[in-house]
Amino acid sequence: MKNVFTHILLALAISAIALVSSRADDKTRGAQNRASGPKGGLLLEKTEPKAEFFLNKDRSAVITFYDAALKPVPAGAQTARLVVNAKGGRQQVDFEKKGDVLLSKTTIAEGDALPVVLQLKSNADAKPQNFRFKLDTSICGGCKRAEYACTCDE
Ligand SMILES: [Zn+2]
Repeated sequence: MKNVFTHILLALAISAIALVSSRADDKTRGAQNRASGPKGGLLLEKTEPKAEFFLNKDRSAVITFYDAALKPVPAGAQTARLVVNAKGGRQQVDFEKKGDVLLSKTTIAEGDALPVVLQLKSNADAKPQNFRFKLDTSICGGCKRAEYACTCDE
């Protein structure tokens, strides 16, 4: 009798361990990578509507707006400014509305992984939302996107 009991306990212990480890697996599998910007840029999800910062090849920058389903929506009254900590000093880049997007008025200083602050306002009088990141254009080995727009979970 004692033997049977031990077996049951053992079986319970094993299934409990199995349960815990399968939960741990689910957790890993269920982990969502950071949302990616449809253009391959950095998706700013805390804005309404969502905004994507993307650096063009010529180092001009474009901000595109999206609804919850990531369908592009035209820019409204939003304004944006990018403050770049370039090697030669601080550079301020303002954006202007061009069609449905906001386009930088100038190109962004050359440099590797420059620290930047993107200030987005929903309109000229609104409080800016600040997004700090490094404008690192090297390609991430994991997600194959530019590092500033990397969607890997680290
Ligand atoms: Zn990545």
